[in-house]
Amino acid sequence: MSELVLKLEGIEKTYKRGQPGEVKVLRGASLDLQPGEIVALVAPSGAGKSTLLHIAGLLDTPDAGRVEIGGQEMSGRGDRRRTLVRREDIGFVYQFHHLLPEFSALENVMLPQLANGASRGAAKARAMELLGHVGVAARADHRPADMSGGEQQRVAFCRALANAPRLLLADEPTGNLDPGTSDQVFTALMRVARETGLAGLVATHNLDLAGRMDRVLEMNEGVLVKT
Ligand code: ADP
Repeated sequence: MSELVLKLEGIEKTYKRGQPGEVKVLRGASLDLQPGEIVALVAPSGAGKSTLLHIAGLLDTPDAGRVEIGGQEMSGRGDRRRTLVRREDIGFVYQFHHLLPEFSALENVMLPQLANGASRGAAKARAMELLGHVGVAARADHRPADMSGGEQQRVAFCRALANAPRLLLADEPTGNLDPGTSDQVFTALMRVARETGLAGLVATHNLDLAGRMDRVLEMNEGVLVKT
């Protein structure tokens, strides 16, 4: 069996608030994610999906439990190591695209590569390839404001994939799109995952899209259960 891209084991997280007290959000959440596998994370709002994605993406730390990326335990690692893994191995997509408004689609996809030491030529070639994969190459020179919501979100996917991460974490990536556009964005994501061995954990409210992913996990009382 190939190495797991992501392993979460017994993740616990409690937020301490003033009144009326603390909220125990995660109570022993566990999951294994294989290369090339896209898994849906389904739960009502407030159940802890974003919390779990932040912990998986090394943006937050659990109170208890293990986080492994590519077989390496991350909990005991220092900030520098965690930042490096986050930059090289993990891509994020959110409900809103967060593209930089003053840059073109092409530049938005080139920037993370340049920050990671790629040459301009290599960064441009990869950005064009990715934009082509998701059907927005013709919009490469457009700024985000001159693109549709679906195009913006497809560019955001390309940016998340720019440095060829092995893990994609997506938080309601189609939550802001109409059904037809959601479908286009989702189809593009699945195609890229199939072609590159990318693994993805995708929080969604859209049960139709969830059903088309490889597996669906439901978050229930702070643990993950198969549906
Ligand atoms: P979801 O993504 O499923 O909507 P979240 O992970 O955002 O759920 O939130 C889970 C619960 O934890 C909610 O009750 C939310 O109010 C609470 N929560 C999230 N982040 C914080 C925080 N930084 N401080 C206190 N409570 C938080």
